[in-house]
Amino acid sequence: MATIWIDGEWHDRASAKVSVFDHGLLYGDGVFEGIRVYSGKVFRLREHLERIYDCAKAIDLTIPIAPDEFGRIIEEAVRRSGLQEAYIRPIVTRGVGDLGIDPRKCPKPTVIVIVDGISIWPPERYEQGLSVITAGTPIPHREALSPRVKSLNYLCHAMAKLEANNAGADEALMLDSSGHLAEGTGQNLFVLKRNVLRTPPLSAGILAGVTRGAVMELAVAAGISVREELLNRFDVYTADEAFLTGTASEIAPIRSYDGRPIGSGKRGPVTKDLMARFRRLVGSEA
Ligand code: PMP
Repeated sequence: MATIWIDGEWHDRASAKVSVFDHGLLYGDGVFEGIRVYSGKVFRLREHLERIYDCAKAIDLTIPIAPDEFGRIIEEAVRRSGLQEAYIRPIVTRGVGDLGIDPRKCPKPTVIVIVDGISIWPPERYEQGLSVITAGTPIPHREALSPRVKSLNYLCHAMAKLEANNAGADEALMLDSSGHLAEGTGQNLFVLKRNVLRTPPLSAGILAGVTRGAVMELAVAAGISVREELLNRFDVYTADEAFLTGTASEIAPIRSYDGRPIGSGKRGPVTKDLMARFRRLVGSEA
């Protein structure tokens, strides 16, 4: 059952409410996380906590509780939900202020933890692969709204997703302002060519995905060389295999990009193997 914690109070879906004066709502001023629960156990909680504290620091927002306490609240929320397989959404907003943008008017950040389920695409996509397009909407410039900050400003990502929907595609890849591939609307990108796995570097201005990190470790353990390199659309068009990674999305194969089949046009063998390794990893850490 969906379970929500807001500033010390427990709620269900119906009673969980925030103020219309919260700057998370008024200005997208805040940060969030997305974490999976496998077999009742939170996957890589420490990494997700580190990221949300780093992101909060980057926007000069002080999370009013210590990381250990935040972790305990998250674990308790999962326990109360009774869910074994779940998705957790911690959120920290600038808090309740007035209608002006000034963050000084928000004396206390709002802290929220939501535990519920999530499903991005139907299960068969994980076997057939996704159809992906290039979004016309670029990722925000890294010095404007750094994509390394998992902020409540996902409007560009939502617009890119809308473009995918309008094109009848499953997902969209966003370019950075110089035309390099950045990431999906909620996923990191990997391409495989001749047993070399490549993914854009963090310095390109992308989110440091926890799943991205796990997949890089798994690939190295599988004897695949992994490189962080700037990628162009050409690299996806001509890849043997390509896939997306994310907490909600897990590992999702790409079968076509901008209408071109990727590799065989089906999920490739390396992607399939990494998906199996990922399944074992989340099982072993659970
Ligand atoms: N990029 C963006 C823009 C995202 O929102 C996400 C999801 N958090 C990711 C990449 C993947 O990150 P992670 O594997 O940590 O979920």
